Amino acid sequence: MKIQNNILKVHEDDNVAVSIIEEGLKKGEILDKDITLLDDIPFGHKIALTDLKKNDPIIRYGTIIGYAADDINIGQWVSEQLTQLVEPIELDKLPMATKKNIISRNANKKYTFMGYKNEDGTVGTKNILGILPTVQCVAGTANKVVAHLKQEYLPKYPNVDDIVALNHTYGCGVAINAPAAIVPIRTLSNLAMNPNLGGEVILLSLGCEKLQAEMIVPPFIESQENWRKESYAYLQDPDYVGYENIFNHLIEMAVKKLEKLNQRSREECTLADLRLGMQCGGSDAFSGMTANPVLGYAADIIVAEGGMVMFSEVTEVRDAINQLTERAADESVAQALIKEMQDYDDYLAAGQVDRSSNTTPGNKKGGLNNITEKALGSIAKSGTSIITDVLSPGERIKKNGLVFHATPASDFICGTLQMASGINMQVFTTGRGTPYNLALVPVVKISSNSKLYKQWFDIIDFDAGIVVSEQKTIADVAHAFLEFILKIASGEQPTNADRLGLVNDLALFNPAPVT
Ligand code: CA
Repeated sequence: MKIQNNILKVHEDDNVAVSIIEEGLKKGEILDKDITLLDDIPFGHKIALTDLKKNDPIIRYGTIIGYAADDINIGQWVSEQLTQLVEPIELDKLPMATKKNIISRNANKKYTFMGYKNEDGTVGTKNILGILPTVQCVAGTANKVVAHLKQEYLPKYPNVDDIVALNHTYGCGVAINAPAAIVPIRTLSNLAMNPNLGGEVILLSLGCEKLQAEMIVPPFIESQENWRKESYAYLQDPDYVGYENIFNHLIEMAVKKLEKLNQRSREECTLADLRLGMQCGGSDAFSGMTANPVLGYAADIIVAEGGMVMFSEVTEVRDAINQLTERAADESVAQALIKEMQDYDDYLAAGQVDRSSNTTPGNKKGGLNNITEKALGSIAKSGTSIITDVLSPGERIKKNGLVFHATPASDFICGTLQMASGINMQVFTTGRGTPYNLALVPVVKISSNSKLYKQWFDIIDFDAGIVVSEQKTIADVAHAFLEFILKIASGEQPTNADRLGLVNDLALFNPAPVT
């Protein structure tokens, strides 16, 4: 990566570079050698470093991100309109688990954090009482109960971090027997086992809904009979006479769980206990040069120390899938990656769209011309490690190491699915900015450029833009980042979104029909 004259070129083969001047570069300015700017170049947008003929490849990250839609002159703005989309990578001609020379990142020191150790071997970064509805019908009741508990009871239980109603819109009015219904059903079942819930979840039903409680009873329970008494309620139960009766019963049930959760305390844990979910949202041209490579470097360290790092967002890896199948641990992992790409291609085709529908107006304003450019920046967060496992949407984590979880790129759906898979923390990179947050796990938000960090100093948690604005090394920023997230994992300080009380709703992925 080379910073020169207010522009940044990522790879020596690149024929475009990115403007790193926050106010943008102005037409007529003279850059390196004989490059005179022929257009104004907005912050994060690309300028041509050579003359390009129509249909010549446009190269960034040393990879073709598109083809010139017209002749482009040196010093010209390489805009979205001048960039033709690359054909999608064919899924039957991919390198399969061919890359073995993986860079080993050194931890340099013993990283630890203070977490809640669970009986199933997982570790929580928070200690939360969750109320999980089986159906939207009971969401209002769950909200009332949680609001009362938070006001009247939570202050009496200092070791409990939060009480959360895991409301959602699934459960009834859906084709529950459709094959694809497995996705929302296992998502709900697995959410109940998130490490930050410590095994203490209240399942709240209406009674008559399609998603009967038995379908999502957490598999960890030993005795159905005890569990039903302590952890399950349905509003149509003939024993409940009137709302007050229902409300009081639920409070009583919750207080018993708060007593139990309050007995827990944090213990020393290592990076091997970290289950770090990663995603991006509101990406820009800097995401792939600062925030995502910093995450990738940190991910390599966590993986080398025995932990689990998860990346997701199918439409944001699809255009760089050849760089992932080659890093698969073996051929079966590579095949699993290909299957998830194919399934998503089919899903998009059924809706008469393709992967190009991923990019947003904000992405484009931030300098990302198309999905190929976005994907190449996005996969930087996976670092260089071997990919050990692939999960279908909503499946539980089975192995440590670097895991790909095939979720949509939608921030809330990806977040919900990663929580269901069992992450205990999420990191989120953004170039445009978002107050996004999850209810169960801390979400550390990282800005890809310092301009955003200055604007949203009290919403963004960590600025990776300093790789460009202060010319810090990726390695140094990655180590500082690890130190920072472990403080959050230990509960020493909240994320800004937690401090401000900003939390997004769950958003289930339901590829099956509703009725
Ligand atoms: Ca996303």
